[in-house]
Amino acid sequence: MKIAIIGTGFGALAAAFDLSKVKGNQIEMLEANDSAGGLVAGFKEKNWEWAFEEHYHHAFDTDKALKKFLSELGLRDQLIYKRAKSSTLYNGKLHQIDSPISLLKFKEISLFSRLRTGAVLAFLKILPNGVLLEKFTASRFLQMTMGQEAWRVIWEPLFTSKFGRFRDRVNLSWFWARVNPRTAALGYFNGGFKRLADLIVQKLKDVGVKVFFSTKVQSIVKEGNRLVLTTVDKSGKQNIENYDLVISTLASPIFSKIIDLPELKQENLAGLGAMTMLLRLKKKLLKDGTYWLNINEKGWPFVAIVEHDNYISSEHYGGESLVYLGRYLEVSDPAYQKTTTELLADYKPFLKKLDPHFEQNLIEAKLFKAPFAQPISFVNQSRFLPKFKTSEKNLYWVCMQHVYPFDRGINHAIKSARKLAKYVRMENSKL
Ligand SMILES: Cc1cc2nc3c(=O)[nH]c(=O)nc-3n(C[C@H](O)[C@H](O)[C@H](O)COP(=O)(O)OP(=O)(O)OC[C@H]3O[C@@H](n4cnc5c(N)ncnc54)[C@H](O)[C@@H]3O)c2cc1C
Repeated sequence: MKIAIIGTGFGALAAAFDLSKVKGNQIEMLEANDSAGGLVAGFKEKNWEWAFEEHYHHAFDTDKALKKFLSELGLRDQLIYKRAKSSTLYNGKLHQIDSPISLLKFKEISLFSRLRTGAVLAFLKILPNGVLLEKFTASRFLQMTMGQEAWRVIWEPLFTSKFGRFRDRVNLSWFWARVNPRTAALGYFNGGFKRLADLIVQKLKDVGVKVFFSTKVQSIVKEGNRLVLTTVDKSGKQNIENYDLVISTLASPIFSKIIDLPELKQENLAGLGAMTMLLRLKKKLLKDGTYWLNINEKGWPFVAIVEHDNYISSEHYGGESLVYLGRYLEVSDPAYQKTTTELLADYKPFLKKLDPHFEQNLIEAKLFKAPFAQPISFVNQSRFLPKFKTSEKNLYWVCMQHVYPFDRGINHAIKSARKLAKYVRMENSKL
């Protein structure tokens, strides 16, 4: 069978790995970018030993599907786990809040609010299945259980800056999925996740999978029993190929640009884009050792600062401090069109509050945009989940919108894609 897999993100790589085990399968991976990894794609500066992701990434200790996949690839020992400090910027100060003890020490809210917050988080941590919570909105539930004070100080600023107009529509299962699998130790791939993606591509090529980079799929059309894909390369040259079976790993707004299917138009498949600014600095921005900083101050234009070198040593990056500024927004927001220079000008006054010498320390700012980076989990989302099988025969689909109640994650991309590969094999007995 001739199979096309659209994309080379971790979902696509995992599906290709499983389907390549079946004798007689001819697999072609078609990727718009010039390298693999999808949202976890990375790059390497000349003076760096390790590659680095365009958007911040780490794994949790609970990421079983990722660990299993790495074991099968013979790469499990390369996933390293280390504790990393998380803090919250509130009232001009950094407060470590990443454990029950540190929450208890957070004196910006009353002891009663801290205890209520801790109790609700503990409940969500032990609840094994969060889908049951999907009929509640997270904002209402948190206000009712943790109280107004904890909501106002700890959660409201994050929900507002992450979800914008969707803030009060996000369901409680989403919040459960953020709390439940979280571990104090975070995982990172030795050499960077780009190295992992490149190693998998090499292993796939070794077993005969063809991987085409800079090959953007423009359209999928049905012709008899086959699916015809038109692709375009960097020079604008078009190519037309037909396949017995096609797997798309694109989120609905991107997928719908290449084929018109009713299931791609559902309102509950909404999502946000991401704009991640990466700062290469001569010195640390967060001097207290914080890796992840939630921004709970009003008016700040980003939701989190992630100082990678407070987690993975800067010695792998030529001694540079690497800091991400994370932001989510709708792609229709005019801010999404801003350039690196425009955005840096907006961000500078805030960065100077953390380090008055920020400008002298800046080597370079880079901006990375992802048009679909964060699905929104609405109330009763499970009733509207997309299926693996599309309404077009022999066209299958797996992406971030399939991993509910989780919203995204390398681990979940791998898990769902392997489920899809199994499903495809069952449906097509020849495989
Ligand atoms: C800012 C940010 C931070 C994140 N942090 C974490 C984290 O800490 N830990 C974690 O586990 N996960 C994290 N994630 C989520 C994680 O990156 C994703 O869940 C996961 O990578 C999704 O993989 P995927 O294969 O489903 O899709 P994608 O990675 O989106 O892959 C889709 C692929 O399709 C390609 N493509 C698109 N259009 C076309 C076309 N027309 N033709 C051909 N190819 C096309 C794309 O280039 C891409 O390679 C983060 C995501 C973002 C945006």
